[in-house]
Amino acid sequence: APASPDARAEIVVDLDAIRDNVATLRARVGDAAMMTVVKADGYGHGLVESGRAARAGGADWLGTAVIEEALALRAAGDTGPILTWLTVPGEDYTRPVEAGVDLTAYTVREVDEIAAAARALGVRARVQLKVDTGLSRGGATAEDWPALVAAAADAEQVGALRVTGIWSHFACSDEPDHPANDAQEKAFVHALQVVDAVGIEPEVRHLSNSAGALLRPWSSYDLVRCGIAAYGLSPAPDVVTSAELGLVPAMTVRARLALVKHVPAGASVSYGHGWTAPRDTFLGLVPAGYGDGVPRHASSTAHVLAGGRQRQVAGRVCMDQLVLDLGDDELAAGDPVVLFGSGRDGAPTAQDWAEACGTISYEIVTRIGGRFVRRHV
Ligand code: PLP
Repeated sequence: APASPDARAEIVVDLDAIRDNVATLRARVGDAAMMTVVKADGYGHGLVESGRAARAGGADWLGTAVIEEALALRAAGDTGPILTWLTVPGEDYTRPVEAGVDLTAYTVREVDEIAAAARALGVRARVQLKVDTGLSRGGATAEDWPALVAAAADAEQVGALRVTGIWSHFACSDEPDHPANDAQEKAFVHALQVVDAVGIEPEVRHLSNSAGALLRPWSSYDLVRCGIAAYGLSPAPDVVTSAELGLVPAMTVRARLALVKHVPAGASVSYGHGWTAPRDTFLGLVPAGYGDGVPRHASSTAHVLAGGRQRQVAGRVCMDQLVLDLGDDELAAGDPVVLFGSGRDGAPTAQDWAEACGTISYEIVTRIGGRFVRRHV
């Protein structure tokens, strides 16, 4: 169905906002190169479209979690540097190596598998090594790091690959005073010394995500990997708002009221009767529910812009619909509502929704979708 402002429910992505956010971030991080992270369908904003907007804003690199995402960017014509970082044993490394995508290795096994694919193709793979400095997620532990570095150095010697980068990832960069940040950076510096000692000269060393880039500018090394901030949302909302950072949320979720009706005080709303009208009121039915990624935790907590004011979700969010308390305002079926958006027109932001739902803005924007039409403007 063609997307239009008359759609039942739609996601509108402002690509200029993504472009401008990337440019704003670039200016803030000084000399470091900029990677825009576009994994998970560009945090729900569209993988290819977000990648193009980010490149237009000055992204030197794009980052994706899995190989398929990187290959989709290549298929759409992106020829710039791309890094991926999540694979499983037996992964087909031939296509990313052929496509000149930087792969991340956490283990000697991955180095061997990537080197084998490169040798079969007669090319050098581009490989970045990831060290686990304390997140305890992907990456080699300090104990395993020297063996990984040695294996990569050997594979580099025989021409199977080039170690293009060394990197790690913060656990607590949204809490700038958390002691883990300095501890991780210290471990990173040590890991770099191990690399240096075997004569590997990576093109890029990097550690920071959005929060690191913005709150620990001294930790940027050669490159920062910004995801959430590129989409206009603060990576550390307890410390700084997106508006204070000069960022504009790029995603707006809008719908049209399906029904408006009047109920008397005492009327209970939606499954479980979790909300009861404290007075006579108008209710507005919004055709969007958890089947579209609207969090059920928004029940009786989140707000939606309708008729120029923010209205509370009344009672439980259902699979396909939710109800708004409109008070004395008799809006009409068909009237527009904005679930969340840029925050500039009085609508809540994804961050407001995250707070109402006890989660982070990342989860709000990444999960929304379902039957919504998505439109890029
Ligand atoms: N780097 C890696 C390895 C990631 O997994 C992510 C996303 O979580 C990012 C960078 C971007 O993080 P953020 O969206 O907080 O900037």
